Order: sequence, then C-alpha cells, then structure tokens
Amino acid sequence: MPMLKGLSRPEALELLSEWEKAILGDSVYGFGLSKNIFVHAPVYRLNDDNFALKGVYDNNETLWGQTVLGCKILPPDTIESGGAAKIVVFNADYQAVKKQLSAKGLKENNDFISVHDFWSLFCFYKYKRLYSGLTQCVVLTDRCNLNCEFCGAKIPTMSNPMGHRPFEAVKDDMALLFNHVDYFEYCAFGVGEPFTYPHLARVLDLVRDRYRRQVGHFFMATNGTITPEACILDKIRECEITVNISDYSVADLPGQAEKVARLSESLSKRSIDFKVVDEPWCESYIGPNDPERAVLSDPGALMEHFRECFNPCTCFFNGLYYPCSYSYTYKATGALSGETDLDGLGFKKLRQEAGDDRLEILMSFLGYHKQGGLKACTLCRGRGTSVPVIPVPKAKQLTGSAEPDGV
Ligand code: SF4
Ligand code: SF4
Repeated sequence: MPMLKGLSRPEALELLSEWEKAILGDSVYGFGLSKNIFVHAPVYRLNDDNFALKGVYDNNETLWGQTVLGCKILPPDTIESGGAAKIVVFNADYQAVKKQLSAKGLKENNDFISVHDFWSLFCFYKYKRLYSGLTQCVVLTDRCNLNCEFCGAKIPTMSNPMGHRPFEAVKDDMALLFNHVDYFEYCAFGVGEPFTYPHLARVLDLVRDRYRRQVGHFFMATNGTITPEACILDKIRECEITVNISDYSVADLPGQAEKVARLSESLSKRSIDFKVVDEPWCESYIGPNDPERAVLSDPGALMEHFRECFNPCTCFFNGLYYPCSYSYTYKATGALSGETDLDGLGFKKLRQEAGDDRLEILMSFLGYHKQGGLKACTLCRGRGTSVPVIPVPKAKQLTGSAEPDGV
C-alpha cells in the first residue's frame, strides 16, 4: 500500500521527515534479495551512485554473511523488535514480508516500506530527483474499434467521449509531465486503442527524441485487431516499446486469432519486444443497484476500502495527475461530477500555488490525496490482492457499431 494513503497532511509530512532523516543518515536496511534490486538498476544510473544500505536481511540462511552491492546479508532474527531500524522490502512477495515484520512489532510505512515507495523517497531526499515506481498512463484517445461490455476504461459508456486528442494537447501534457518528473519506472499510452490514434507517429517521435531516457519500461497495450503500418512499427522499435497484445481469442470476434498472429509476426520480424497477454477479467464498477454501494457510503468503511485498494495505474490528462486511473475513467463516463478528491494534482497550477511543488508531486506518488469525498471509490470495488473482484466474460461485445479496423 502506498505509504501516505489515507493520512492527513500533518501525519504525511511527519512520516516523510522520519524517512528523510534515515535516508540522509544512511541508516536504512533492505529485506530480501529478489530481482527488484536489479530491476531498479536504471535508478543507479540516474543518480550516478549506489545507495548505501546498512545491510540486507534475508530468510535464506545460506546467504547470511555474504555481501550484495557492498552490503552484508543478515538473518532476520537480528532485526530489533519495536522498529529501531527503517527497512525497505525488496521481495516480490511483499505481503509475506509484511506479515513477518508485523509479527515482530514493526509498523508498515513507519518502520518498513515497499521498494517502490523507497525509490521515490531515496531519489527525492538524496538527489532532489522525482522518481515514480507506478505505471504512468498518458492519454491519447478514448476511441476503440471494439465495444466490450466490461471495458476496463468504460469507453462504451462514456457520456461525452472526446475522441482522438489533438497532437498539441498530448505534446503539452508530455512536456509538463516530463519536465516535472525525472524518471518513471513504467509508462504507457491510454485509454483507448493506441493503433487507432492518427497522431501516433508524431507522439512516438517525441518519445524517441525527448523522453525515452526518463522511462524504465515503456509499453503499449493493444486489443490485437490492428497491424499498424511499417513506419509506426519502426518507430515502436526505435522507442524500445514493449507491445502487450490482449488475447481475446475466447471472445466471439471474427478472425481474432489471425489478426493477433499477423500483428505478432510483424512485431517479431522487427525484433520488437511483445507479449500476448491472457489475463482474467473482472469488473470494478459498482452500479446504482449494487448492494455494496450501501456499505461504501459509510465514511469509515469507505476509507478502509480506499486504504486496502492498490491500483498502480496513474493517469495524466490535461495537466492533471490522477493518482488512480479509475478516478479519471469514472469522471470521463459522467458517473462522477464536480470536484473530487481524486481529481488529481494540477501540474499547471503547482508553480503558482504550492511552496514546494516537487514535494506535492512526491506526496501524490506515495498515495497522499486531499481527504474528503472519496467519490470515485464509492463507485469502485477497488484493486489489489485483498480486494474481492467480480469475474466477467472477456471482451464480450455489446451490440452496436465498433469502428472498422485500420488507423
Ligand atoms: S478492446 Fe475492449 S476493453 Fe480494450 S479499450 Fe477497447 S473496448 Fe475497452
Ligand atoms: S477509485 Fe477504485 S481503484 Fe481508485 S482508489 Fe478508489 S477504490 Fe481504488
């Protein structure tokens, strides 16, 4: 769970100041030797330095006494109970380590945090850089050539779809985003089908020429129905973008398997990294007659629901940073109206209104938001390991027109 989620502003600032002291005082330990240490290698390049962990705890006793990145590997039994040390958890199975450390009396966020949160804090306090470990989505279009009943982006139910955004609007957003933030671990295009976007070639030029070095992993998700023209594919390769093709072969879509095969072959020929992704589908939206809606209207239950939820997808649109992509989506469908506390941080306004705009952005990355309505969460089942989901048929098409194939 992002460390500042659900906290008041004074509580959030106090927690940040504790971690600032630990980072500047080189008194942070690691836990677990998962691949995450190596996944975040670009951060070392960004900062032109190694971080100085005091040691790394690990459950594997065969490693105790060895060193990694200059740090000694220690048995977890030597962790002092009561939270004397600040620990960053590298393990992929964060929940298991959380259980282990909590049993020793350590408090999540105060005494230990996830690696994603740690890197944001580390880059900020040690190097005055802004780093996001979340997935940053840049909105290109809300059009799609399919019409899925349970579309995660709710495109078929958008009350006032904007269509393809003008290139200048996307360009301005990217400039604002990348001028404020030094590094994103993950970046993607959203929210509709990117291969329908008519200005994709120009956006890819921008990515290649200006912003690619500020992103660890750039990817785009497609429904696999369109094989773009050669010049687009060449630019995708130049940008080192991974293409995730959703496998909708279970859905009743004419010629879907052949279309996916054609796209896969074109990507493969150009040595473009791609994956055919087959994920289960679930519904997040709570409709007007859903019994869960009553539960979510209780302020305490709602806050708990928000705190339990972890949606790693953030969204940037028209100068606003949305810490949760669903809050953007629900607004776009018209299900939310007026101001909401998940409306996002206005990057355009920061320089005029905030004393320390970089701190505001960091706090948003770490889950802080203005408390109040939690309006988007009243509509949403949430996401994350502890959140029950409702399975739905994959890519089931609504009747009505979908756009024809092609760009
Ligand atoms: S393919 Fe389906 S789920 Fe994906 S954006 Fe299009 S309509 Fe939504
Ligand atoms: S809107 Fe949904 S996904 Fe977003 S924070 Fe609230 S519960 Fe989580």
